[in-house]
Amino acid sequence: MKRTIIDRTATILYIAAMAVYAVSIIYMHWFMTNDKALPIPREEVQVIREWTYTDQLTGPEKITSPTRVEKDGRDTFVFEGKIPDSIPEGSVLAILNRVNFTAEIDGRILRKWDPSEAPIIGGTPKNSYFFVPLRQDDAGKTIKLTFKSDIFGGKMFDAFVGNRYEVVRYLELKNGAFQFAMSLVLLVCSLGIIIAGLVLKILFNQRMKLVLISMGIFVTSSWMVADSFVFQFIFRIQFIDGLMSYMTTLSIIFPFIAYLNSIQEYRYRKWYLILTIVEFLNMMVFTGLHISGVYSFAQSLLWLDIVLGVGVLGCMVLTIVDIVKGNSAGYRFVAYGFLCLMILTIIEIVLINTVVERVEGGVIIAGLYILFVFAIIQQLVEIRQIGIERDRANEEGAAKTRFLASMSHEIRTPINSILGMNEMIMKETRDPDILNYAGIINDSGTMLLSLINDVLDVSKIENDMEEIVCANYDPGRMFDAAAEVLRTGASKKELAVKIGKPRNLPKVLYGDEKRILQIVTNLITNAVKYTEEGTVTFTGECFEQSDGYVLCFYVSDTGMGIKEEDMDGIFDPFHRLELRKNQNIQGTGLGLSIVKSLVEKMNGEINVESTYGKGSTFSVRLPQKAKEDEISDKFNSGNAVEDDDLSDIDPNYIAPEARVLEVDDNRSNQVVVREFLKATGVQLDIASGGTEALKLCKVNRYDVILMDHMMPHPDGIETLHMIRSDEGGMNASTPVVILTANALRGSRAEYEAEGFDNYLSKPVESARLLKMVRKYLPPDKVMYKPKKRTPISENGPAPDTPGTALPADGPVDIPALLARFDNKEETVSLILEEVIKEGERKIPLLRQLAESGDIKRYAVEAHGVKGVMSSTCVPSLSDTAKRHELAAKEGNAGYVNDNLESFLAEYEQVLEYIREYLKGRKT
Ligand code: ADP
Repeated sequence: MKRTIIDRTATILYIAAMAVYAVSIIYMHWFMTNDKALPIPREEVQVIREWTYTDQLTGPEKITSPTRVEKDGRDTFVFEGKIPDSIPEGSVLAILNRVNFTAEIDGRILRKWDPSEAPIIGGTPKNSYFFVPLRQDDAGKTIKLTFKSDIFGGKMFDAFVGNRYEVVRYLELKNGAFQFAMSLVLLVCSLGIIIAGLVLKILFNQRMKLVLISMGIFVTSSWMVADSFVFQFIFRIQFIDGLMSYMTTLSIIFPFIAYLNSIQEYRYRKWYLILTIVEFLNMMVFTGLHISGVYSFAQSLLWLDIVLGVGVLGCMVLTIVDIVKGNSAGYRFVAYGFLCLMILTIIEIVLINTVVERVEGGVIIAGLYILFVFAIIQQLVEIRQIGIERDRANEEGAAKTRFLASMSHEIRTPINSILGMNEMIMKETRDPDILNYAGIINDSGTMLLSLINDVLDVSKIENDMEEIVCANYDPGRMFDAAAEVLRTGASKKELAVKIGKPRNLPKVLYGDEKRILQIVTNLITNAVKYTEEGTVTFTGECFEQSDGYVLCFYVSDTGMGIKEEDMDGIFDPFHRLELRKNQNIQGTGLGLSIVKSLVEKMNGEINVESTYGKGSTFSVRLPQKAKEDEISDKFNSGNAVEDDDLSDIDPNYIAPEARVLEVDDNRSNQVVVREFLKATGVQLDIASGGTEALKLCKVNRYDVILMDHMMPHPDGIETLHMIRSDEGGMNASTPVVILTANALRGSRAEYEAEGFDNYLSKPVESARLLKMVRKYLPPDKVMYKPKKRTPISENGPAPDTPGTALPADGPVDIPALLARFDNKEETVSLILEEVIKEGERKIPLLRQLAESGDIKRYAVEAHGVKGVMSSTCVPSLSDTAKRHELAAKEGNAGYVNDNLESFLAEYEQVLEYIREYLKGRKT
């Protein structure tokens, strides 16, 4: 369908070009041969055509110009003509000539010229116009022009008399100014394409066939520009080497032969070679004869043109043969153009050799334009074709990625179940054989899982679907996590470990923590994998620069090293070295390729130095941003933004009279607060959203309200505004503390401006919450027991690992969670039960929100997951949820959809882990 449109357009263009050509030929012919058509009145420029001719052999004879007298032993030709009776001031007589001449009136010499005056090295000048100055009293007198013999003899063209300016204008028009301009345009366009082609070739190593044809057109049009009589008026250069025009004519054919040969895919290369040799000999032989003075170009013109015509005919025949054979589909547009140009060139050659006085080149120019237009169409079609193919390839790639993504998700889920079940087996059996088998299942399953993840990563990267999602993170914590990977890996192989944490590491950086960790752990895993004995060293550096930091990591090992010749391919996907030697080392050859792509996506750099047999060092440099208020004012390292007057408050109080309202849409958060406040005995009401809170506020007077920020409509801020705007309402002036995870200094001011009394960051800590509530309780409602209870620790002692046999590196940090709740397993279980219920509701909700495109609400829900997971000590899921929240807030639905399944699978895995934990506790 698209092809036919192009075909039709090309045919229409072809017909249009032919029509334009026909009209312009008729117009030019009429315009240039009919003096009356010139816009200058005849009286202003007068033409002398009647002459009396004499030479040393014959007596006077009347002739009419233009005329030619054969040499036949003559060397002087005298033409006498009458200057018109009335001539304007400052008149000149213009004559076309290229030999020695003298112009005189009554023995007074007006102009004398010798070709040796022309600044052309050894060459013959082309015919050009000479201007002989006349006086007004020369009117009516006889002017005598004496010419030296040219190669053929003597020539007398028409002479023109008039004011110099008018004569120039007249001559410009007479000699095809339009044609000259057209040649000039062609010259500039073709030169532009040649330059563009060269740039493409140099920068992108791309070949454009159009360049060859442009070269041909460039040579042809430059010949036409230089050969035109108008040239001298435009460029003020009178003497052009006549030889040059012959040379250019002879060389025109070569680029065209090369172009035809290339578009016909070298099917007739022998014939084209023969044509090239013939034309080359033609050029060399006749140029040699001319330069040596044996046989001048002027004499050999006919032969030259015949051989040139044969070359053109040869190209034409080969092209026709190719078209007839049905091979021209790939270059059909240009074939039209070529046939046209060839026919017109032959017409031009015939005309040059038969018509004496004529502005040459018009026919060829028209042919060149037609060819040029078609060659450009051809090139555009090719570029378009490349574009279509690229789109198709991209589409295929994207489909492949979608397939891989969904397939790997489908595979991951059962593998997770297999691994989970296997873990149960390992837990329950004491049989060493079964334990051994289960261990193998575990290793292979884990390996399979990581392979699937790698394949997924690579296909995403290859299709440019991998996104770098930046957020604030703690680089110190990330470094520790990577170091832990090294310690664990190295201890299994009994390798020594050296870890040097970078100094000057800022507390917060802005970047993609998960991906950076992926890069570093990949390098660490490789170092451990490919080292049998010795040490693996992991260090880093951090430099400040104008717009942030440069984070550097170095991973060195004393392992097998990499050969010099293998260095180049090390980052290519599926590239593994020394397969035989490494056959026992598990790997896919994808790790480093993923690492490199990720580093490049982050505008970083990765380098490797290695000595074969001694070890390798991989170094990574990653520029990271650090927004000012996010560096020093970060919250999670010291709660710098929180109210520090809390330090003097004793949290061990009871306040059974006090009434507190808790507003949060997440059940587990509700339970956390409830459990924390339990010991104080306060009367706690819980609202699951803004609307419910408003209802409760209408009937109860609260001493403090604890308000979550991110909730589905109305959110915490809107709810606060509504409570405050209820003038005379029971809670219009109740202190409201916001509980939020937006813990940056800027946020504090913002929340204050919104009307909140204070601010608690999530995950909420027990002591801080108690102190905060205490701060706003009326003193008369607060009591301290005379004997102090067990103090509520801010950092509870780490309990023993619970009695369940859950793996220590599971997604939930149970010990930390227990510590948060003073090692009260009951409380923790209660909270975790809520987390499960909530999760069961949230997983389908998140999927539904993502599928329906409700990205705003999705952000709110993901935010909720982030908060719950961080307060229940599930850092990795909290992190993932944070990425989703950020992406959703930025409206990046692509990221959300691409990563939804893996997010939900991770969520599901966490729930499963918690279920296992709870089951273990019950039994
Ligand atoms: P693999 O999954 O095979 O480890 P990678 O892409 O991570 O794939 O690495 C590609 C190849 O580079 C490896 O197969 C290994 O031959 C070589 N290589 C990577 N890291 C090291 C290292 N620290 N020491 C020696 N060789 C290494």
